[in-house]
Amino acid sequence: MRRGIPFVVAAPSGTGKTTVCRALLKRDPNLRFSVSHTTRLPREGEVDGRDYHFVRAEGFRKLVEEGGFVEHAEYAGHLYGTSRAALREPLDSGLDLLLEIEVQGAQQMRDRLDDARFLFLLPPSFEVLEERLRRRGTDSAEAVEHRLALADRELEAVSFFDYAVVNDAIADCVDALQEIVEAERAGDTRLARERFGREVALARWRAATS
Ligand code: ADP
Ligand code: 5GP
Repeated sequence: MRRGIPFVVAAPSGTGKTTVCRALLKRDPNLRFSVSHTTRLPREGEVDGRDYHFVRAEGFRKLVEEGGFVEHAEYAGHLYGTSRAALREPLDSGLDLLLEIEVQGAQQMRDRLDDARFLFLLPPSFEVLEERLRRRGTDSAEAVEHRLALADRELEAVSFFDYAVVNDAIADCVDALQEIVEAERAGDTRLARERFGREVALARWRAATS
């Protein structure tokens, strides 16, 4: 049987990963969301087991010691990780997986998951990123500053991703991700790489934001 493809999506916090990934998952019945573990508290509307497995730090550390994670990282004071169990069942049963993770975790994945494809989302600009984080209203002013400071460093990591897509209008960004997913499934990525290959997309983005 065909093994599923892991698609790793990363972006600086506030770019719109969650929003865009949700829309993509709604469109594509063969794509499953990889449910991560985290030690942060649930936000309003988040459901344990659907959005995250919400665990205490002790439980998280125990799983680390047992080798239960493919990757894990600390981000903004909390621990996040992708368990082996989250990947095994969907991939073995032929379903493609969407992993929405931050860049240190994506970097670990690059070394550990040979068949993963790496997609980076870019904010239209830093000003828009700041505005989205503030408008989301889930983080204190201090936490927003912290996430913005991290964003600068996170952007450097784009160099090991396969694709980069700007999240300006949501629908266009979701169309682009879908095009990439379908190209990878079909094993014909020439057009998708011409349009969204990291180098091309990044050069275009730098020209537009400088
Ligand atoms: P992330 O998961 O990358 O941290 P979110 O998906 O939580 O980001 O999005 C951050 C905020 O920006 C949310 O309030 C969301 O509604 C908004 N947002 C996301 N994508 C767009 C977009 N393309 N245009 C305008 N606002 C957006
Ligand atoms: P949030 O607290 O906003 O849900 O997530 C903070 C950051 O952690 C986001 O960039 C999110 O993508 C990332 N994240 C979520 N799950 C995982 C995971 O399993 N591993 C890693 N490394 N990062 C994750």
